[in-house]
Amino acid sequence: TNILKNYDKAELKRLDNAHHMHPFTDHKGLEGEGGSRMIVRADGCYLYDIDGEKILDGMSGLWCTNVGYGRKELTEVAAEQMNELPYYNTFFKTSTPAAALLAAKVASLLPDDMNHVFFSGSGSEANDTNLRMARHFWQLEGKPNKKIIISRNNAYHGSTIAGASLGGMSAMHKQAGLEISGIEHVQQPYWFKEGVGMDEDEFGLVAAKAVEDKILEVGADNVAAFIGEPVQGAGGVIIPPKTYWAEINRICEQYDILLICDEVICGFGRTGNWFGHQTLGIKPDIVTMAKGLSSGYLPISASGVGDRVYNTLYKKGGEFYHGYTYSGHPVAAAVALRNIEIIEREGLVEKVRNETGPYLAQQLATLNDHPIVGQTRTLGLLGAIEITNDKAAHTRFEPEGRAGTICRDNFFARNVVMRACGDVMVCAPPLIIDKAEIDHLVATARECLDATA
Ligand code: PLP
Repeated sequence: TNILKNYDKAELKRLDNAHHMHPFTDHKGLEGEGGSRMIVRADGCYLYDIDGEKILDGMSGLWCTNVGYGRKELTEVAAEQMNELPYYNTFFKTSTPAAALLAAKVASLLPDDMNHVFFSGSGSEANDTNLRMARHFWQLEGKPNKKIIISRNNAYHGSTIAGASLGGMSAMHKQAGLEISGIEHVQQPYWFKEGVGMDEDEFGLVAAKAVEDKILEVGADNVAAFIGEPVQGAGGVIIPPKTYWAEINRICEQYDILLICDEVICGFGRTGNWFGHQTLGIKPDIVTMAKGLSSGYLPISASGVGDRVYNTLYKKGGEFYHGYTYSGHPVAAAVALRNIEIIEREGLVEKVRNETGPYLAQQLATLNDHPIVGQTRTLGLLGAIEITNDKAAHTRFEPEGRAGTICRDNFFARNVVMRACGDVMVCAPPLIIDKAEIDHLVATARECLDATA
């Protein structure tokens, strides 16, 4: 019998409650609610739960299933690669065809002066890699004091110790262990929340100046890098004012500081270009990629490394004492390669840029008249709805975050997935979503906001 097909529903939920520690989940009360909702299969933009309910996935899982679910060619290429070579490492002067071809393919999508790729297993691991690379780079450059990494409050860079330390999520910092030294957090470019009463472009310059001020405070000779998501995802789809990134480029250049772009969410078509740094005009030295790289079918991540860093690190530096057992895993790499081929063949990046992105923007904007909506904003297929109890002052219902949680639960009960980041409702649907599905998402949003108000 196939244990995954012939299950007893009640027993499965009981086992899950009894033994499974879920990430980012408050287990209190979960049992009373009947346990976690079990998702058993998926196709296109839809999930199916254990009770046979069909759910529109407006979040692409965790912002990752860019090509949607049920892609047979991805499962086929995984099976072929598993039969041929299920595993071999890329350490100690060995490689595999899948890892080599994926590195070349990813490099071809990155800026002209970024020709090398280091593989890791997850977004968090890739950011660990980036932290070590940035600090090692400066050691090799003869500037070992350049160690500090500047990040933003409310940034998300992962859950490993380095990832969470780089991130600026206060709830994560309050829990134990985030003690990596030399990480500084500055103001985020979140106009709706922190720039009330200010012109948006002017606020963008204020937020960028916070980076420059920090550099001047700690001394440019002590700063290795600045890290930022082009658009903060988990923070609440925070699309910076137009002035922000141009100023960050200037600051990093002026003080000779590496710019690390965390494209874990923004990469692979999400913003209407292959990468968010193209959409927003950012000039990165290192790029973090994960999620959409394989559309989540298998875990794999990558750091794109610019020529300047590569030349010092690998030509001058010799051996980089860093890597993971699964760096460049051949099955994950083969799936990622085919996933990129699908994105190209189906023109998904252009579809987001020219059709579905503008359509999502237009439809979400119809919610602006709702009494508890303070702002809607989108970039490509990233969308946000700000829930507020005062449209002018941009304040939150008390306690903060609760309205978002209620709204999210309303969505889930209506078989649509959107996520609450505090009191911001966010969406990031698969890049294959069509206009009728966007209509359904937005119509459900209005119902949920009505029910939350
Ligand atoms: N960086 C960003 C911008 C992310 O959104 C995430 C995950 O959501 C990560 C890093 C961490 O990736 P992972 O969960 O694969 O470790």
